[in-house]
Amino acid sequence: MPTPTLAGGPLRWRRTPLHDETPLPARTSTAVRPAVFIAKDGTLVENVPYNTDPALLRFRPGAAEALAALAAHGWALLVVTNQSGLARGYFTRTQFARLQEGLQKGLQQAADVALLDFLVCPHAPAPDGGPACLCRKPAPGLLRRAARRHGIDLASSWMVGGLQDDVEAGQRAGCRTLLLSDGDESQWRRTPLRTPEAVCHDWAGVARHILLTPPEPAPSLP
Ligand SMILES: [Zn+2]
Repeated sequence: MPTPTLAGGPLRWRRTPLHDETPLPARTSTAVRPAVFIAKDGTLVENVPYNTDPALLRFRPGAAEALAALAAHGWALLVVTNQSGLARGYFTRTQFARLQEGLQKGLQQAADVALLDFLVCPHAPAPDGGPACLCRKPAPGLLRRAARRHGIDLASSWMVGGLQDDVEAGQRAGCRTLLLSDGDESQWRRTPLRTPEAVCHDWAGVARHILLTPPEPAPSLP
């Protein structure tokens, strides 16, 4: 099989099979669907600040395979990403759309994975660093917009990201939260809103955790 490429460069990912024979819990049948919301930079792909060149896209190890496993079990997959480079004028929507297309094509080629949607906050934070819109994570606007658009049940959905802002956005939307971190978690500001339900250190662990956790509503916030 030829190595999949993204416009000019080979995709790098490790084959990380998910060896777990434990039976999966049956999902409750509901009219609305559960989803996994995924942060992009540093979570789905290696973080290259303000990159819009598809040739520089590299999936994090095991990401494509993990998403394929989740999709095979009925999880809708959506990317939710802050792109303040748009508001700052570092790149245009057309340039970012090209990157998005490259990313989606790369996922398709790497593991036959299709995203349900790709939601972008194009705004910058306020000059004091505070929120200036309702969609920049840690605000939950992108997740809520996706839920309305696609009939997603937020309480049985997961937010997966590498930052506490991702965790907070997930918590504020009423989702379950999983932090994908290979760093030092002792430096975190631990508040209930910024503490994830689970921490995983690689993508295989993320898929296992989501697939093996029984569906239940997230605990109510204090
Ligand atoms: Zn925004």
